[in-house]
Amino acid sequence: MGSKVTPHKVILDESEMPTSWYNIQADLPEPVDPPLSPMTKEPAGPEDFIPLFPMELIKQEMSQERYIEIPDEVQHVYKLFRPTPLQRAYRLEKELDTPAKIFYKNESVSPAGSHKPNTAIPQAYYNKMEGVKRICTETGAGQWGSALSLGCKFFGIELEVYMVKVSFEQKPYRRAMMEVWGAKVHASPTDETESGRAVLAEDPNCPGSLGIAISEAVEMALKRDDTKYSLGSVLNHVCMHQTIVGLEAKAQLEKVDEYPDVVIGCVGGGSNFAGISFPFAKDKFDGKDIRIIAVEPLSCPTLTQGKYEYDCGDEAGLAPIVMMYTLGHKFVPSPIHAGGLRYHGASPLVSKLVHDGYMEAVAYPQTQVFEAAMTFARTEGLIIAPETSHAVKCAIDEALKCKESGESKTILFNLSGHGLLDLRGYDEYLAGNLVD
Ligand SMILES: *Cc1c(COP(=O)(O)O)cnc(C)c1O
Repeated sequence: MGSKVTPHKVILDESEMPTSWYNIQADLPEPVDPPLSPMTKEPAGPEDFIPLFPMELIKQEMSQERYIEIPDEVQHVYKLFRPTPLQRAYRLEKELDTPAKIFYKNESVSPAGSHKPNTAIPQAYYNKMEGVKRICTETGAGQWGSALSLGCKFFGIELEVYMVKVSFEQKPYRRAMMEVWGAKVHASPTDETESGRAVLAEDPNCPGSLGIAISEAVEMALKRDDTKYSLGSVLNHVCMHQTIVGLEAKAQLEKVDEYPDVVIGCVGGGSNFAGISFPFAKDKFDGKDIRIIAVEPLSCPTLTQGKYEYDCGDEAGLAPIVMMYTLGHKFVPSPIHAGGLRYHGASPLVSKLVHDGYMEAVAYPQTQVFEAAMTFARTEGLIIAPETSHAVKCAIDEALKCKESGESKTILFNLSGHGLLDLRGYDEYLAGNLVD
């Protein structure tokens, strides 16, 4: 390696884009505990998921195959924005005066501005292939809703989105994006579903939560045969679709003779973190010395303060019950700006790996997170999503530890999305109005 200088951007050719996703279930040191049916509380079989998901996604959810091929039509759409660049944060390193090398995988270059199209596109594709006409989903800050609107538009499927009310009000432009791509958007809780009406009866001013919005979307999907449900995070197949991020990053780092000592991602449901880290976790199972860190908000500290137990994925208890870190399915987090991180639970795969010590978790308050985002914007130029800023805060902390110890570690984090529709949060930070 010697004094070889890494370029600012490591770019893969389209022909180098991975053609399979990585399914970590094939390599887990111990299998995850099975999901339970919400009706019987017994281990759920494929039949329990049939009303909700197309068969191919159910198979992927339970698959033990190590690699699953990405269909040609999906690869074709991915190539609108993939492979995404891997960037070296030279200017941030200089600002921090750290010997660490910081790399970020820039998923903000997708049309929706986040990593979420990586799963929205295949999910829409598999629904289309199985004759589904309509999908219901929930969205927090609107990134998932907009990503799925895009996917559904490309594959000719109607979409209804239940958007957490606090975000619906804070982020009107995400609603506009969804409508541009042809979706219908509701502020959740609505009075159109039983789950929504039950919540409103108790608290007419409820700001909503992802758990409540999921209940509404699941309820509506269960009502009609031509309608399925779609989830933007948490589930095994969603995490698997995101592994294209980590697979690309690995290939990009190889090109410049690098391998990360630390891999970092922010965690809402866990999908972008899973995406960047699972291909490296495989190496860790094989004995590689590598730290993998999940970062979450202190106001919704699922992995750092939640209990590892069976809990419902949604507020009303309609969705399958899974073994995960959870703050309880009735938990309604405070309305912080990182709307995409306000979920009471976390991916069962990520939970298991944190629980078993293969991954670590840290939590930060939002003022520190915005401060990190400001440093990033003023060095690397990009105005990143409040969710992503959690990963940046952690990367900065790790780089500063290197400054103290004099170690030149290689740090990789997932830049999960841009913050151009989150400027209100930046505005409040600049005005000094942001609280923890
Ligand atoms: C949705 C979202 C997240 C959180 O979701 P995960 O499933 O945990 O990845 C993080 N960053 C951005 C930009 C998002 O849109």
